[in-house]
Order: sequence, then C-alpha cells, then structure tokens
Amino acid sequence: MKYISTRGAAPALTFDQAMMTGLARDGGLYLPETIPTLSEGEISALAGLPYEEVVFRVIRPFTGDAFADDELKGLIAKAYAGFNHTARAPLVQLDANHFLLELFHGPTLAFKDFAMQLIGQLMQAALAKSGERITIVGATSGDTGSAAIEAFKGLENVDVIILFPHGRVSEVQRRQMTTPQEPNVHALAVDGDFDTCQARLKDMFNDFAFRDEVRLAGVNSINWARVLAQVVYYFTAATALGAPAREVSFAVPTGNFGDIFAGYIARRMGLPIKTLVVATNQNDILHRALTTGEYRPDGVVPSISPSMDIQVSSNFERALFYAYDGDGAAVAQVMEELKSGGFRISQGALEALRDTFASGRVSEEETAATIRDMLAETGELLCPHSAVGVAVAKAHLGPEPMITLATAHPAKFPDAVEAATGQRPELPPHMAGLFTRGERVTRVGNDLAALQAVIRERIAR
Ligand SMILES: *Cc1c(COP(=O)(O)O)cnc(C)c1O
Repeated sequence: MKYISTRGAAPALTFDQAMMTGLARDGGLYLPETIPTLSEGEISALAGLPYEEVVFRVIRPFTGDAFADDELKGLIAKAYAGFNHTARAPLVQLDANHFLLELFHGPTLAFKDFAMQLIGQLMQAALAKSGERITIVGATSGDTGSAAIEAFKGLENVDVIILFPHGRVSEVQRRQMTTPQEPNVHALAVDGDFDTCQARLKDMFNDFAFRDEVRLAGVNSINWARVLAQVVYYFTAATALGAPAREVSFAVPTGNFGDIFAGYIARRMGLPIKTLVVATNQNDILHRALTTGEYRPDGVVPSISPSMDIQVSSNFERALFYAYDGDGAAVAQVMEELKSGGFRISQGALEALRDTFASGRVSEEETAATIRDMLAETGELLCPHSAVGVAVAKAHLGPEPMITLATAHPAKFPDAVEAATGQRPELPPHMAGLFTRGERVTRVGNDLAALQAVIRERIAR
C-alpha cells in the first residue's frame, strides 16, 4: 500500500513513512493510492465484535508491511485499554430513528483520543525500531492538544509541542495541556486563533531545513493515520444498526473536516452510508461552500463550541482530491487561489461532493436550546459540539437511521452547559486535581521565527 499527495508532486510513501511525515513536501496531504474495500460478508461479520477486533480488521488493509499482525493487535489493545467504557464507542438512542455515538470515553474526554491513543502506540513502535528521536508539533482548537499530550507525555525519544490559540480554549481544555509535569511536554499559547496556529504549523513543515533539523512530525488530522483510526467507529455504529443490509446516515460536528472525512473513507470502503451531514457552528465556511460552491474564509468568530472555530478546514483538501477525480494539479491550483482569498469549486466537483455530503449551520442560541431540550427529552447531557451535530441531524432525518457523533464530554465545557441547562457537569474521577495543579505555558507571538526559536530551545534540554 502506497500513499500519495493530494497535490500530486511529492514522493509516494509507505504507511509508516506517511504517519511519521504528516504533511507532504508539496504542501499536500497523504492519501492511499487506492482505497481497499471490505465485502458485504466482511462488513456483516464486524457486528458485535469487540471494538479492538474491528480496529484490526478495518485498518489492516491500509498498514502494508509496517507492522506484523500480532504486533499490530498488541498495539491496538494498549491504545484502547485506558478508555472508561468497555464498548469504547457506545451507541445511545435519542429518538425512534436517531442515535448518538458517544466518542468521549477516552482519557481526555474527546473523540481525538480514538486516533491519538492509537498513533501514540504506532509511532512509539516505529521509533523503537528506527532508534530515531522526533519533535511532534501540533496545532489545536482545544482537544487535539490534550489528546496528543496524553498519548506522548513521558516518552523518551519524543518532544511534544502544542500550539493553542491564547484565550480561545475552555479552562478545562487549557489545564489539560498546561498541567502535565513531564519535561517532554511544551504548551505554547499563540496570539491568534486556531487558523493562525495551523498556518504557522504548516509554515514549519514547509521550512524543510527546520523540518529536517528538529525531525518534525505532525499529529494533526493532516496525518493520515489519525483519519484512518477514526474510520473504525463508523463501522461499529453502522453494523450495530443493521448495516450492510440497511443504510445509515451520520451527522458530524465539523471543524477541520477530519472526523467526517473518515466517514467518507468508510463509505468508499463499502459501508452503506447514505449521507454524511456536515454540522457547523457560526463558523460555517463548509456549509457555505457546499451550498454556494464558494470556499472563502471570512474570519473566525469565537463560539461556545470552540473546537469547531475553524475557517480553513485542512482535510477538505482530501475531499476535494476525490471530487476532482484525483487530479492533484487541480487541487494544487485551488489551494494556490485560497492563499489570495478563496476559490470556486468546479461544478463537477461540487456535484460529486453533494452526492455524499449534506450540511447545516447552527446559531449559538440554537446550540444552547438543543442542549436544554435534549436533557429534558432524553436525559442526555450534550457538549456544545455534539449539540450542533444533533440540531443539524434533526433537520436531515429520513427513513434510514441517523447517527450523530457526540465528540466531547459535556464536562469539558461546563460553563456553556450550565448556562444552557442550569446543571454543571462533573469531571470524571480520573481528572480530579485538574484545577489545583500548577500550570506551565509559554506565551508566543504569531511569528514563525519566534516559535521556531522556542522549539529549538525546548528540545535541546
Ligand atoms: C476536533 C473536534 C471537532 C471537529 O472535528 P474535525 O475532525 O476537526 O472536523 C468537533 N468537536 C470536538 C469536541 C472536537 O474536539
């Protein structure tokens, strides 16, 4: 299995190379050269299996020679051992034909743990073989940072550096990044929003001298291995509800388009997904793009669902690659246009996208009302991101079961949840002490050279 760049001008890599590399050297994102499929029989055989077994069967066709089968099974077992629910991704019923996929039972209470815990194991195994030392730099709108820190803290041959937008993450999110005491963990508060953090991260990857000097590795959802890990729960949820004999749809609270793109891969692998519904908050570039064909960022407005406060959705580039029939030059062209303000999606590509994706946008008031109503109607306390998903899903209910992804635990966003319901969600016991431990954080300006200087100094310890 070879991996190729969405912009068509970087060398093809193996699975482990693509995982360790992150961004391709032509600025593109890696994708498998062909998407393996599972037969109807193979898909129906997944129903009722332990989560870890489904992980193995779904990701194995993508990993090539990187890991022996028994080794891979062992790494998968370790990745999910720290989850607080034996089902890992339990499915809860909200209404006759509407279900909630709870993805917040991992160690940092957001769906990011599903991928980060797994790539933490896979990267460690790859580094143990090569003897290399790497610097992981990640940009976060809140949840990727804590999940990466949790997965990599204390490791010998890894430094983990997280750029988060100063003042734009919840207090729980910030403390999850600033309170770990392991010396290989470095939280940097950057002046700007998430798009700023992600742009500086991409600049670092495109500075090849720096990239090679510090042996830069990326764990944002630009990393293919992360997307792959997220494909799995689409299979567990759909087969639990009758796939492949029955079609299902998914509604996904979306920011960087990583989670929903994993659903697209599941669909291409043969899972009968009717519609993937993109749910956005007031930062609705994806909803606008799918509605009008114009992809044009217009500035982030902070919301009560901060992990989705994004206007430049990296993984949308992967969807565009398929919508443009694998034409890397066409993708490179629109990405070039994006630098000067935005681009128009071609009619053919737009139709291809609309074949799979629907979309909706939810205001702040509707988000709060959805949290309140769901608690009253079902007893389920939603985080604001999950509420955005539920609200959009309700506008897209059809004859097939609708599954909304619940992307974070309400206790990560206690202020917004309390404001909506009067009820303050409690942190689970394993996170006691979060508010009393000392914080370690470095404030850095929105400046590539300044960030690189801090990183050089930190990894020289
Ligand atoms: C990261 C995140 C999202 C957005 O996921 P993408 O893969 O970036 O689209 C939604 N909700 C929560 C809670 C998140 O942490």
